[in-house]
Amino acid sequence: MRDLARAARLLAVNGATVRKQGDFAQIIDAIAAHGIGGIAPWRDQLAECGLKEAAKRIAGHGLIATGVCRAGLFTNEGREKFQAVLDENRRAIDEAQALDARCLIMVGGGLEPGSRDLAGARSLVRDGLAALLPHARAAKIPLAIEPLHPMYAADRSCINSMKQANDLCDALGPGAAIAVDVYHTWWDPDLERQIKRAGKERIVAFHISDWLVPTTDLLLDRGMMGDGVIDIRNIRGWVEAAGFDGLCEAEIFSERNWWRRPMDEVLGTCVQRFTTVC
Ligand code: ZN
Repeated sequence: MRDLARAARLLAVNGATVRKQGDFAQIIDAIAAHGIGGIAPWRDQLAECGLKEAAKRIAGHGLIATGVCRAGLFTNEGREKFQAVLDENRRAIDEAQALDARCLIMVGGGLEPGSRDLAGARSLVRDGLAALLPHARAAKIPLAIEPLHPMYAADRSCINSMKQANDLCDALGPGAAIAVDVYHTWWDPDLERQIKRAGKERIVAFHISDWLVPTTDLLLDRGMMGDGVIDIRNIRGWVEAAGFDGLCEAEIFSERNWWRRPMDEVLGTCVQRFTTVC
């Protein structure tokens, strides 16, 4: 396992972690100033900053774009809008390419509006990914399927486990990949085996945060690494044993805590926790 003690460069910070504390140009500059090695922008942040300006700033600081958040959401607008959703996804692939990003984060989408057909939603996600793959392969941008915690199955993603993500990758072939997020997957008794099954080729992103007890909001109460119950180091060990050698990305949505603190405090704490508890 890699020694993180003096390895802040192996940390990336997701743009959402400090999204309330500055515009995207300020966020890029602050992340670089803390000696952090990478950044993962959200598409609204790229739009606000301007794609070219964001690409220039990220490259100018020598930061790695660990992923672009996010695309997918194939089901939420129903089958009538499926083609429009695919077009939007292709634009997201182009943005990831412009940043030389390691991947595009794919969140499947939940149930179609008014539907209880979970299996149908899952097959629509598979169809969406398959339709995008030629464009993604041409752009050399892996489509990183990020399984989300099952509590999001209805509204955000019906892809909820590493096994599902691996099965999708088996079915879809080259260009389909996986983002492992400890927040979404830590509970899974099959996690170690499925990480091993995914291996170096498929695991293109590793997201870290912590699970607070109690969790007070399904979306916006993620914990800082070390403040919750996830054995992050253990899971990182599995991911690295599988061959992952990329940056670990701190992705913390925290409406009542970290989003209310100064950007420098949040980034400094990310580095301090990354180098001591992850
Ligand atoms: Zn994530």
